[in-house]
Amino acid sequence: MYLHTNGYYVQNDMLGPDGDFITSPEISQIFGELLGIWCLSEWIGAGKPSRFQLVEFGPGRGSLANDILRVFSQLRGALGGAAVSVHLVEVSPKLSQVQAQCLTGDQSQVSASEDEPVYRQGTSTTGLPISWYRNLDDVPRGFSIYLAHEFFDALPIHKFQGTEKGWREVMVDIDPDEPGKLRLVIVPAPTLASTQLIQADEKRRHVEVCPEGGVIVQRLANRIAEDGGAALIADYGHDGTKTDTFRGFKGHKLHDVLASPGSADLTADVDYSYLRRMAGATVACMGPVSQKDFLKNMGIDTRLQVLLRNCADPSTRAQLIQGYDMLTNPLKMGERFQFFTMLNHSRLTRPEQSKGGKKMAPVPKKGPAPLPVAGFSELGLS
Ligand code: SAH
Repeated sequence: MYLHTNGYYVQNDMLGPDGDFITSPEISQIFGELLGIWCLSEWIGAGKPSRFQLVEFGPGRGSLANDILRVFSQLRGALGGAAVSVHLVEVSPKLSQVQAQCLTGDQSQVSASEDEPVYRQGTSTTGLPISWYRNLDDVPRGFSIYLAHEFFDALPIHKFQGTEKGWREVMVDIDPDEPGKLRLVIVPAPTLASTQLIQADEKRRHVEVCPEGGVIVQRLANRIAEDGGAALIADYGHDGTKTDTFRGFKGHKLHDVLASPGSADLTADVDYSYLRRMAGATVACMGPVSQKDFLKNMGIDTRLQVLLRNCADPSTRAQLIQGYDMLTNPLKMGERFQFFTMLNHSRLTRPEQSKGGKKMAPVPKKGPAPLPVAGFSELGLS
């Protein structure tokens, strides 16, 4: 099945209480703050390179980037003199405007020509340059921390059903009994996708594959291997265990995926086992770990206590506690939401320290152990 959601994303501001769904950065400021700490910690773990690009895919209303940039500004001292720049990959012109408003106030300009790779540029309220692109390929090369929050789940999927005759693709068709109505059908013969996208050792009988997500992950892995950096992917997801997850949301309610196409948010859980396979050995992968574990490893409990200590207003306090519960409760977003990272291999190896300047071949001495990757182990920054 190939359903392109671009129409929906290009045309709507679907986020927030009045939209079709609400996301973690919109629920609590703590989410973005902890991800900001994660970015800083990975920059430090990489040896504090002098240029640091923060790249976000599908930034929605800009809330996550806004919270991260606030952390960068507050911890400016820790960033030293690094040249930090912000790069947003966004297909929706409407949302890019919402993001620009949130991040720059009115300090942004659209490009004169539609064909420019950078279609909008500005300066954040904290003084950092921000650029908008439609594609990862247009983002300049260099050490980067890539973030994708609720991005991969918005990309189109193919659906497949295991049958007695082998794998068959499931497609959207017009219902012959009710013209104007759509239905799902199992294609009787193999398709290119059904012969190419299923693993030989696949155990499931129903599988969803997102090849566009796979291509983006491969490009990310190549960039991280060549230029240094890390990617953090956070989404509703599983590690190759779930089958039929394709669903629609409209006005915060589940919505028939086939009804009124283009008007509802269509989404499928991210299959991290597929993303890991597509990244291959080019990068080191960690996760997926549950959002609850990731945020607890990042110190969400301590951060909540600090905010509560500094806040007397009962309704803000209630909101902070409610947001914390929504993000971490296993029955809410705590378990179904999963975090996954791809890292440059050098990030996890102990650097060799050789004694330079001597004529004799130096005996390499092992450098200090690499910093643990925050969020993915209990030794996070908490
Ligand atoms: N990350 C945000 C928004 C998630 S909604 C949050 O968590 O609140 C998905 C976002 O991805 C939207 O900004 C949408 O416009 C964007 N998007 C969807 N498909 C895209 C694509 N193919 N390329 C770039 N951005 C895309």
